[in-house]
Amino acid sequence: MTDLDPVKDLLRSLNPPQREAVTAQEKAILVFAGAGSGKTRVLTYRIAFLLLSGKVAPEEILAVTFTNKAAGEMNERVCALLGPQGQRVWISTFHSACLRILRSHIHHLGLPGDFVIYDGDDQQRLMEGLLKSAGVGLHAYPPKTILKEIERAKNRGIGPDEYHPEDFNPYQKKAAEFYPLYQEALRAAKALDFGDLLYFAHLLFQRVPQVRDYYQRRLRHILVDEYQDTNSIQHLIIKDLLGPDASLCIVGDDDQSIYRWRGAEPTNILSFERDFPMTKVIKLEQNYRSTQIILQGANAVVCRNRWRKEKSLWTANEPGDSLTLFWAEDEEEEARWVAGRIAEEGRGKYRRCAVFYRINAQSRALEEALMRWGIPYTLVGGVRFYQRKEIKDLVAYLRVMVNPDDEVSLKRILNVPPRGIGPKTVEKLHTLAHQKGCSLYQALQEASAREDLPQAVRKKGREVASLLERLRAQARDLPLNELASHIIEGTNYMEYLMAQGPEGQTRMENVKEFLGMLRGSGIEALKEFLDQVALLTDIDEYEDGVNRVSLMTLHSAKGLEFQVVFMVGLEEGLLPYYLRLDDPEEMEEERRLCYVGMTRAQERLCLSCATRRSLFGGQQRRVPSRFLRDIPKEIINQEGRRAPLVPSSWVWEEGLLSEDTHYEYD
Ligand code: ATP
Ligand code: MG
Repeated sequence: MTDLDPVKDLLRSLNPPQREAVTAQEKAILVFAGAGSGKTRVLTYRIAFLLLSGKVAPEEILAVTFTNKAAGEMNERVCALLGPQGQRVWISTFHSACLRILRSHIHHLGLPGDFVIYDGDDQQRLMEGLLKSAGVGLHAYPPKTILKEIERAKNRGIGPDEYHPEDFNPYQKKAAEFYPLYQEALRAAKALDFGDLLYFAHLLFQRVPQVRDYYQRRLRHILVDEYQDTNSIQHLIIKDLLGPDASLCIVGDDDQSIYRWRGAEPTNILSFERDFPMTKVIKLEQNYRSTQIILQGANAVVCRNRWRKEKSLWTANEPGDSLTLFWAEDEEEEARWVAGRIAEEGRGKYRRCAVFYRINAQSRALEEALMRWGIPYTLVGGVRFYQRKEIKDLVAYLRVMVNPDDEVSLKRILNVPPRGIGPKTVEKLHTLAHQKGCSLYQALQEASAREDLPQAVRKKGREVASLLERLRAQARDLPLNELASHIIEGTNYMEYLMAQGPEGQTRMENVKEFLGMLRGSGIEALKEFLDQVALLTDIDEYEDGVNRVSLMTLHSAKGLEFQVVFMVGLEEGLLPYYLRLDDPEEMEEERRLCYVGMTRAQERLCLSCATRRSLFGGQQRRVPSRFLRDIPKEIINQEGRRAPLVPSSWVWEEGLLSEDTHYEYD
C-alpha cells in the first residue's frame, strides 16, 4: 500500500535506527554498523528525505562513494525514489569530485584547467625517464617504489617541499630527491597524477579561501559511504568542504576496512567523534542481507580481531543452509568443483553467483573450468580494457590531440606503429627540446629544419608532425568516433595489428569495440571522455546487467551482494596473504578481508582450500587458512578429499603439526 505522503512512504521501508539516521538533524552523524545492515541504503534514503522535505535543493547535496559504479548506482536509486531532480544531486567518488573542482579552479594555483590525468603506467614512464637521465639505476631504485613513497606523501597532504625522508631509508631519500623533479615534469606535461587530484584540491582550499568558501556556502549536506577506507587527505578534503552550517553524515564499518595498504586510515572513522564533538552516533545491528548461518560464520572470523569496536549483528532472515567447505586436491580440482556447483546452483541465473579470490593470478584456473562448462562469466579487474596496449595507444593519440605537451603520451605514439623514430631519435629530439626550452612536440615540429639530424629522421619527423597537426585540427569539431577512425587510418594502425597474427586479431576487435564506445563530438566531448577513462577503476568496468558469473578479487567485492558466493584458496599464504603474516595489524586486515568476502553472500557461501597449488611459478603444498578454524564446525558441511598433508615449513601453530602429519580440520 502506498501512502499519499511520500515521506511517510519512504520511512516505512526502514527500521527505527535507520529511520533515525535518515531524519537526523544534527550537524555530524556517524552511522557505525556491520555488513549488510543498510548503511548504503540509509545514505540513499537520507538524500531522498532531504529533498522531499522541500528544505534542501539537489545542488546543495554532495554524496561521496568509493567507486564510480557505486556512485552510478546511488544516482539511479535516488532517481527511482525521486524522479529526475535526483539527477542534480552531486554523487561522485572523491577523485571525480576533486577533478571537477580542479577543472574549474586550478588556475588559482597557476596550473591550466585543461590538464590530463596520468595513470600508473604513465607515471612509471615519467619517473623512469627522470631516474634514467639522472643516471640512477632502475634496479636499485625501481620507479614503482619511488612513486609509492610519493603517493603516500600526497595521501597525507605532504608536498615536495615538506617531504622529509626517514634516516636510513634509501628509497625515501631518493623520493625526497625526485619528488620535486617529478612534480615539475608533470607540470611541464600539463598533467596531474591520481594522487594530485586529491592533493591539489586540498591545497586549493587551503591557499584560496574564496574557492573553499564558495563550496562551503553551496553545500549544506555532505554524505560519505565506506568512510573506514578514506585516507588522511580525503578526511581533510571533507573538512575543507564542510561549512559551519553544513551537516555531515558518514557511514562505515571498521570491520570492513581493507585498504590500509593503500593509505586508508581506519582511525578516521574511530576518531570522527573527536573531530566533531557533537556527533550523533547511530548503530545499525540488523543485517538484511545474509542467512543466520552465513552471518554466524563471518562473525566468528572477525570477532578474533583485537583492534575493533565490539558490535552485535543479527538477522531476522532464515537460518539457511550450512556453509560448504570443499577440500580440493589442487587448483584444477577446485575450479572444476566451483564450475560444477555453479551449473547446479546458478540454474541458468548466473548473475546470482560470484567467485572471489585473493589475487588476480587465481582466476586462470577458474576461467578455464567455466569455459569448459560453457558458463558465461565476467572478470572484474585483470587486464582491464583500457589498460590494453592497443586501447592505450589510441587513448594516447587522443590525449595528444587535446594536449600536445603531454610528453608521456607523445613518446608512447611517436613510433607506434613503427615509423623509424627509435629511442636514439627520441633522445635527439629531447636534447633539442632541452636546448630550446620547448616541449618535445615543438621540437618534433622543428626537427625537419635541423641540419644536424639525419635526413631520414627529418623526413619522418616532418611526416609525423604534420599528421598530428592535421588530426589536431580535425579534433576541434569531428565526432569522436570519426576522429579515432582518422587516427587509425592516418597511421595504418589496423595494418600494424593485422601483422601481429591471431593476437592482432583480438586487438582489432578491441579497437572496434573502442570505436563503438565513443560518443559526442568536438574538443569538449573529447576532454570529458578522457577524464572518464582516467577515473575508471576495476569495478567500474563491470556490468552487472548481464547474466554472467562474476569473478573478482576480495577487494573489488566490497559493498556488493550475491545470492551464492564462492571463496577459493582459503589457505595460509593466500588468505591470509604471505606478505602479511608477520605483522599483527596486517593480519587483522586479512581477517577483515575474509569477513568482507563472507558477508557478500545472501543465501549460500561455499569455501574451498587445496592441498597443492601452482602459484608464483611453482607447485606448493598448502596449509588450510587459520580463518577456517575459527568457523564453528557445526555450521560447515565438508566435501571432497580431507586432511591435506602439511610439511613442517608451513606450520603456523607450533606443536600442533609436525612433518607429514595430517592436518585434521577440527
Ligand atoms: P555493506 O556493509 O556490505 O556495504 P550496507 O550496510 O551498506 O552493506 P546495504 O547494501 O545498504 O547494506 O543493504 C544490504 C541489503 O539489505 C540490501 O539488499 C538492502 O536493500 C537490504 N536492506 C537494508 N535495509 C533494509 C530494510 N529496512 N528493509 C529491507 N531490506 C533492507
Ligand atoms: Mg554499503
